[in-house]
This record gives sequence, C-alpha cells and structure tokens, in this order.
Amino acid sequence: MIVVLKSNTPREKTQQLIDEIKSQYSGVACHCNEGTQVTIIGLVGDTSHVDMDSILAHQDIVERVTRVQEPYKMVNRKFHPQNTVITLDNGLQIGGTQVVVMAGPCSVESEEQIIEVATKVKASGAHILRGGAFKPRTSPYAFQGLRAEGVELLLKAKEATGLPIVSEVMSAAQIPLFKDVDIIQVGARNMQNFELLKELGRLKKPILLKRGLSSTIEEWLMSAEYIMAGGNERVILCERGIRTYETFTRNTLDISAVPILKHLTHLPVIVDPSHGTGITWLVEPMAKSSIVAGADGLMIEVHNNPERALSDGAQSLKPETFDGIMTSLRRYAQVEGRTL
Ligand code: PEP
Ligand code: MN
Repeated sequence: MIVVLKSNTPREKTQQLIDEIKSQYSGVACHCNEGTQVTIIGLVGDTSHVDMDSILAHQDIVERVTRVQEPYKMVNRKFHPQNTVITLDNGLQIGGTQVVVMAGPCSVESEEQIIEVATKVKASGAHILRGGAFKPRTSPYAFQGLRAEGVELLLKAKEATGLPIVSEVMSAAQIPLFKDVDIIQVGARNMQNFELLKELGRLKKPILLKRGLSSTIEEWLMSAEYIMAGGNERVILCERGIRTYETFTRNTLDISAVPILKHLTHLPVIVDPSHGTGITWLVEPMAKSSIVAGADGLMIEVHNNPERALSDGAQSLKPETFDGIMTSLRRYAQVEGRTL
C-alpha cells in the first residue's frame, strides 16, 4: 500500500502519521520516500487489515492511498518514483546519467592475467573490473576458480589500477572474503538461493543480481525484494539472457527486459551481452541495443588470450576489440543523452 502525501507536508506531520500507522498495525513497516515533487509512505508486510479510510481521513496531509497489486513492494517504482543511484566508494554512480561499463575476464586465472586485463580495459574506459573467483560450472571437472586466492588477485588489480571490482559469491560462507570487493555478484544460478539473498540483505554493499536462467521478470524482482526487505537497498539488476528453444546463441538476450524493468522498478539495470549471446561478434550489436533500450550499464567479458581462457573463451573479447567497441558505444550513449 502507498500513501501519497500532499506537497509541502511538514516532516513532523509525516512522522506522526508513520508512528500512528506503526502503533495501530504491528507487522506493518513504513518506508518513507521523500522525492523532490512528492513524499510517499510505502507500507510493507501484511497490509490486508489496514483501513485505507482512516488514513485518508488525515485530509490535511494525505493526497491519496492506493493498494499495490504487485507482490514486490520495495523494488516497485510506485514506492520510489525516482531512479535509485548507487554510489561506489570512489564516487562512481550506477543508475545516473553515465552508462557504466564493467569489463574483465570470466575467471581470474593468475596475477599477470588479471593485472594485464585490468590495465587494458581501464585504458579503454571501463569503469569497473569484473572477474570470477568462485565459478559456477556445469561440470564438476571444469575449472572452479581460484576461490579465495582469486579474490586476493582482484584486490591487487584494484590497487594497481584504481578500478572498483565486482565478483560472484556462491554461498553465504564466502561473504567475509568479499569485505573489500566493491560489488557482490549473485549469478544466474543463485538468483533464487533465498538464504543467500537474505544474508546479502544484511550487508550495506551493492549487490549485482543476475537474472535466473529461466526466471520471469516478476520472479527476478521478488529476488531483489528479498535483498531490499533485509535492509540492503543497493541492488543492481543484470539481464544476462534466458533459456529458450533457440540454440544459435548460448542464451536469448531479453533486451525488452530493460525498458520493462525501468517501468516497474527504480533499481539500476545493466546488461551482460557476453553471457547473453555466448558469441564475441554479437557483443557489440547487443551492447548498442542495450544502451538504446535504456540500460544503465554493461558487463562485458574481456580476456588477454581468449583461446586459452579457462572459462568462456568463446564469448570473451580481446582487449583491442573491446577498445574499438567502447569508442562506438560512446557515440550511442551520447545519442541517448548519456555519457560513457
Ligand atoms: C559470470 O558472470 O561469469 C557468470 C557465471 O554469469 P551468469 O551467472 O550470468 O551465468
Ligand atoms: Mn563467464
């Protein structure tokens, strides 16, 4: 349920109303969103017994009261009309006017590899370094990642280049290792690992939540709701393709998810055309499409030697290819009134 207040409602009156609702309905939490135009009180929890008329009776401050039909509340744009902008420690903003590019190898493989890729993608204008330390692999015999050592190497690359880092966590037990990682990624395979999502909800760190392999947009938003309901409002959604009957591409990249999410939620939305297609030559056109569709950022796999990559070599760009793509993406961002 949302309570839209009249403009210029004094803060004390807003607080009085919140206190009144909270004391009357235990189990209902109030989230106040003070926008430039309008202040909204979002009620979450079991609101079935909340009497709308008694709230509307505060005629001097209440403009309207509406029930929110969607099962996701805190991620809902109705609760928070303005875009959420997530600011990293170095000041970089995700969800603002800049299109943010996260680039790097699928897996961290060695110190030389990650430092070389980090240095090159930075020179091409990438804003964030990606690299998997814990790898979710279909085969238990495939490279599983350097694990804790991989995180250490990412931190070295961060120190060497100044780039913030994003890396995937696969279980709650690994969370302490991510203390100095700027953004924690939840991979497609863990999108509905609800216990993990609850743990991440206790953190204050940004969480990059990838779309599950066969998840609907609503299921994805409900997973984001788990993180936000736990108190962590810093969630970034990442479209990375879904399973369809098409076999030409590794996944079917759902570009329409971008404007749909922008309509439904205030959270930043990025696109991963590397996992979304699995094919290097599709990365550029899909990255361009993502920007035109309104994405706030991109995640692109780049490897210094894709032929020898320990994972996802077929979809990883060479640094020089990435460099060329960045130049053309900048023009697309500009046309959309954004920077890159
Ligand atoms: C990754 O980013 O390397 C990854 C494993 O992605 P996804 O969870 O989208 O498959
Ligand atoms: Mn990968």
